[in-house]
Amino acid sequence: MLKASIPPSVTEHAAGMAEFYHHGELLSVMTTQPLGRALDYRAPEGGCHAGAFVEVPLGPRKVMGVVWGPGAGDYDINKVRHVIRVLDAPPMREEMREFLLRSAAYTLTPLPAMLRLATRAPGLGDPPSMRKIYRAGDGMPSRMTDARQRVMAVLEEYGDLAFTLKELSEMAGVTSSVVKGLVDQGAVREEESPRDLPFRPLDPSLPGKALTEDQAKAAAVLREGIKSETYGTTLLRGVTGSGKTEVYLEAVAAAVQAGRQALVLLPEIALTEQFLERVEERFGAKPAEWHSGVTMTERRRIWRMVGQGNAQLVIGARSALFLPFQNLGLIVVDEEHDTSYKQEDGVLYNARDMAVLRASICGAQVVLASATPSLETWANAEAGKYRRLELTSRFGPAVMPQMGAIDMRQAGLPGDKWISGEMKREVDARLARGEQAMLFINRRGYAPVTLCRACGEQIGCDQCDARMVEHRFLKRLVCHQCGESKPMPEACPSCGVEGKLAPVGPGVERLGEEAAGLWPEARIATLSSDMYGSARALKAEIAGIAEGAADIIIGTQLVAKGHNFPKLTLVGVIDADLGLTGSDLRAAERTFQLMRQVAGRAGRAEAPGAALLQTYQPEHPVIRAILAGEEEAFWAAEAGERRQAGVPPYGRMAGIILSGSDAAAVFDLGNHLARHDGPLRAMGAQVFGPAPAPIARVRGRHRVRLLVKADKGVALQEALGRWVGGLRLKGDLRLAVDIDPQSFY
Ligand code: ADP
Ligand code: ZN
Repeated sequence: MLKASIPPSVTEHAAGMAEFYHHGELLSVMTTQPLGRALDYRAPEGGCHAGAFVEVPLGPRKVMGVVWGPGAGDYDINKVRHVIRVLDAPPMREEMREFLLRSAAYTLTPLPAMLRLATRAPGLGDPPSMRKIYRAGDGMPSRMTDARQRVMAVLEEYGDLAFTLKELSEMAGVTSSVVKGLVDQGAVREEESPRDLPFRPLDPSLPGKALTEDQAKAAAVLREGIKSETYGTTLLRGVTGSGKTEVYLEAVAAAVQAGRQALVLLPEIALTEQFLERVEERFGAKPAEWHSGVTMTERRRIWRMVGQGNAQLVIGARSALFLPFQNLGLIVVDEEHDTSYKQEDGVLYNARDMAVLRASICGAQVVLASATPSLETWANAEAGKYRRLELTSRFGPAVMPQMGAIDMRQAGLPGDKWISGEMKREVDARLARGEQAMLFINRRGYAPVTLCRACGEQIGCDQCDARMVEHRFLKRLVCHQCGESKPMPEACPSCGVEGKLAPVGPGVERLGEEAAGLWPEARIATLSSDMYGSARALKAEIAGIAEGAADIIIGTQLVAKGHNFPKLTLVGVIDADLGLTGSDLRAAERTFQLMRQVAGRAGRAEAPGAALLQTYQPEHPVIRAILAGEEEAFWAAEAGERRQAGVPPYGRMAGIILSGSDAAAVFDLGNHLARHDGPLRAMGAQVFGPAPAPIARVRGRHRVRLLVKADKGVALQEALGRWVGGLRLKGDLRLAVDIDPQSFY
């Protein structure tokens, strides 16, 4: 969240980077504390390099920071203190400091907040700790069992390499006690070693799959790009199942062969065991895996090994972009259109755009892969800024699903049912053939509204202007804005009448209930992120379903992302109109992408697939484009409309979100900004608002938005900086700038 303070002096500092500071020399240190600027210190005994991670005194505390450049010399020279110590980590590379500076400037984020993203390694300051590792010993086991044999075989195969107990027992498929037994006999050696082990080297020379002609052509272009050792971005477009992953893994192989590191970004939920196994199969070793479910020790290991060049490939969620790569040659952004690449709290950055920035600084290639690219990326390819590669057909016998609409005006359903007769018959047919069917609805919970039939009250959140959503599975009402929840009440909180609360509208749980009534014999799996304790549990469930553990899958958008269900031949979209009603500028684009993506789940193996959309507006241009599969036509039309309106990607936008506990104060600040919009008007930008945000209260804070629209070529950030940079925010008022906003809530 941007406190209205733009760091003034950091850019000058970056320019004059000195390499080494001798003991006592003046240098500046950027800390992760919200100070807005670097502070002067003296180099410690033994000196230090620019970029070194250091511990410095700050008032009574010790804090971590990075040596940013020469001292500014604007602080009483007699009071300047010494750096306490240099931490045991390779110095931050100059290209990383430049990346942080430029991404901070682009997103109008104070540099310390940006730096925090780049130092998210627990125990960065700790001395290296030890742990036990295992390798082949000299002794022989007294008695050879099958299990023991497997352990010995693994050790033999990998020669001199050492393993953790977990790695070794997993690879051999034995319990850890088998390994321990071999240690007792001297057949396996147990040693103490630094905790952070290098990742096992990948073998890029292992044969990949034999590529089709299309795929081979695309892979060759990507390999050429890697060879050029310069920056370049490629849009890799291809329908789901066309082999995009197969192709970009060739680019990864080329990067690794060239001695450079590679990063593959995936939407968090698409980071599945399935995917990692596939990568392991291709390269003979596991890549580093970076996401919110990774343990602290593993995070630390990855951060360190990436920095030492001992991790060649990282598969990660968006924050992996801030890892200290030493020699990054390739960034793949898979499902590049996915909205989860935009971080919506804290630092508001779009990982896809920042990937392009990072690559352009370090001379790396970027591959943006998608079946349904964002309009931004499509337009960049049209304009010739990005290369464009197409995979036109699905791999092997799989063909694109047949698309059809079910006109809900004819369905004659009662108000509390959502599965039409036609949909039911289609599902029946799949079940009879032993195939899987999926019903998709993009709404979590049981019902979006809980209505009191006595007084008409719709139960809302106490802290937000949002309705509470019933989650029957959790037996609670949940606010999807702030996460607040409370037990489902017996009586209406407004009128006190009991037994009159009724669910209105469908959520994924309620749809599951309807399906259970229609298909009592079928195995039904309802998949929604909140129904599983952990991401791991959810992933395990999905893997089971892919292998056939369910006949009918009921799911929210999380099933749309990158999973492979070979037995799935029908996708039924319960409410294709859901996304079309929003006032969001990207409503049409999002609906189009989501429907194509969901439909892409069907028919990935031999059996052909079909996708059926239940809609009340079969003539809507977006629905028609989806049905006809006219992607180019859809994009061209959508691009035309946006160009006309001067909105992204043909114009620039920034959101200003003001919030505070006192509604009047928030509005006053908004009005003040609107009245003093000189810096923006000077460059022809328009300011809209202040207006209450669509969700006008979240967590008890009132929210007001302003929207800035400007022409494509203008220096928007600079003007915004002049506009809001000098503001003093009183009390608990907050101001956040959202460059290229994706959501407008
Ligand atoms: P996408 O990333 O475009 O969705 P994938 O790369 O996941 O496509 O490919 C879809 C499926 O087809 C995967 O199971 C993949 O292993 C398989 N596949 C793709 N190309 C080939 C190929 N040339 N040879 C063998 N299998 C392939
Ligand atoms: Zn709430």
